Amino acid sequence: MSFATDVRNELARVLPERKCCQKAELAALLSLRTKLEPGAGGGMTLRTTAESAATARKIYSLLKETYGLSSTVSVLEKKRFKKSRHYGVEVVLQPGEGQELLDDLGLTDAAHRRAIRPALVNKNCCKRAYLRGIFINRGFINRPEGAYHLELVFSDTRLPAEVQKLMHRLGLEAKISERKNSLLIYLKESEKIVDFLRLVEASHALLAFENVRIVKSMRNQVNRQVNCETANLANTVDASVRQVEMIERLLAKVGLKGLPPSLRELALLRIEHPDSTFKEIGMLLDPPLSKSGVAYRMKKLENLAADLLDL
Ligand SMILES: [Zn+2]
Repeated sequence: MSFATDVRNELARVLPERKCCQKAELAALLSLRTKLEPGAGGGMTLRTTAESAATARKIYSLLKETYGLSSTVSVLEKKRFKKSRHYGVEVVLQPGEGQELLDDLGLTDAAHRRAIRPALVNKNCCKRAYLRGIFINRGFINRPEGAYHLELVFSDTRLPAEVQKLMHRLGLEAKISERKNSLLIYLKESEKIVDFLRLVEASHALLAFENVRIVKSMRNQVNRQVNCETANLANTVDASVRQVEMIERLLAKVGLKGLPPSLRELALLRIEHPDSTFKEIGMLLDPPLSKSGVAYRMKKLENLAADLLDL
């Protein structure tokens, strides 16, 4: 199963406690693939579909909890796509029944309805619940090991603008772009994706995300450290090449005897061990010398060279 499916299934199992949030989330879940048809005896039938059993169960429970409506869930096989099944949820409304639900969903006032009824998402808790419902229906998220990407896909133009505004009120700055016949709201920064998962209470997904983020940032640190060590090594080698050249010219001019006794051994060791660090050369000296002691004597050699060779 894909990471996105895991997250949608996880969210389908989160049941909001408050009535206000339950209504908001139900409205989001029914914002897609929902039809209202005239039924027998002046009643109506509300039909929707869900892509997973968990989502269908959630719609069933929310209809019961919030509006006291009983629904039936059925399995619908999609013949065109092998093994792909989805679920139908159907509510038969007697005349006059379910008016509150239809109002909340904006199904009764077609001419003036807004994509999201503002009263449903006044409170922050309800905004978060609404966003959760939207993700279950329209969300996609890349697995955290890959490129950071979360998107919500819409086929109409009004809802995405309102969802974007809702996300903005929750502190999530999201962008909208077009793809074929759809509009997408998307997030690309890992911090924002983590914020989104936290807001919709996808705690497992959040944990998986944070773990990968930690591993990634550790790997970056190690890479930086390796780069840094490589740079240091390159500096050491550059310096050594200069020192060897300088010492060879010095010896050609004044000979080993021309150098102060304390610098002779160091001069020879540097030529013999061009790849060694000062610390390593210090250990070869007799008696051994510290790194800073070697650096000090090397400086004296350089000063001598500067005087004698007109460097
Ligand atoms: Zn609420």
